[in-house]
Amino acid sequence: MGLIELINWVELTLTRWMEMSWVGAWVIATIFHLLVYLIGGGIGLWLTRQVWPAMGLGQEIDQTPLKTEQLVSELKNGFVACFLMGWVSLSYRHLCDGVLPGDGLTVLWQLAAFVVFNNAYSYATHRLLHHRSLIRFHAVHHRSRRVTPFSSYSVHPIEALIIAATFPLFLLLIPMSLGMVALLHAFGMLYTVCIHCNYDVWPTLSDEHWFKKLINHPTYHRYHHTLGNVNFGFTNRVMDILFKTNKN
Ligand SMILES: [Zn+2]
Ligand SMILES: [Zn+2]
Repeated sequence: MGLIELINWVELTLTRWMEMSWVGAWVIATIFHLLVYLIGGGIGLWLTRQVWPAMGLGQEIDQTPLKTEQLVSELKNGFVACFLMGWVSLSYRHLCDGVLPGDGLTVLWQLAAFVVFNNAYSYATHRLLHHRSLIRFHAVHHRSRRVTPFSSYSVHPIEALIIAATFPLFLLLIPMSLGMVALLHAFGMLYTVCIHCNYDVWPTLSDEHWFKKLINHPTYHRYHHTLGNVNFGFTNRVMDILFKTNKN
């Protein structure tokens, strides 16, 4: 399949999803979320527990033995979260301004606007969820102290809805295409899986390196799970640095 055929296939598939019954669209959206979560998490577990240790690459961060009950509980919560995120994604059918973006420039400015919005939204909601009146909705995620890739969406249903509201809220401000939303959403899900991998691929990289100073990585997010009141950011540390909640 060439690039043009692939784009045509994506356009046709997304158009069909836009036009099908809401029940069918919910089922497809839930399957999409589950596939990204399970395949992303499965590959993460395989790489960090088998492939990279066998290659002598990097090291596990928290070496507490992983209990099967924890994995089962995380998967149960993750399934409910995918089901709810699939439901909220039905709103895209009304809020998106088409199936594919118009041109490269549109892609770039929408991407920049979304990065700014997502940084602010994810940081603000995460900090609010740590407030004593709301922490009960976030405690499910913090049950995983020794995190696994499947901890990524092991969240309370209310937290799943808060995460799922990211795109509808952004689309109310700046409409963008369904293709862009699907791509950014899948990337965001895989990024969440990555920061819960409990694996430092490059332990010799200095804390002073720009990459470690700017990007949220598994060691950084692990401090959030063990200490609680630091490192609230999602993909990067900008908001943590601005609001002085950054910990190396
Ligand atoms: Zn938290
Ligand atoms: Zn986490």
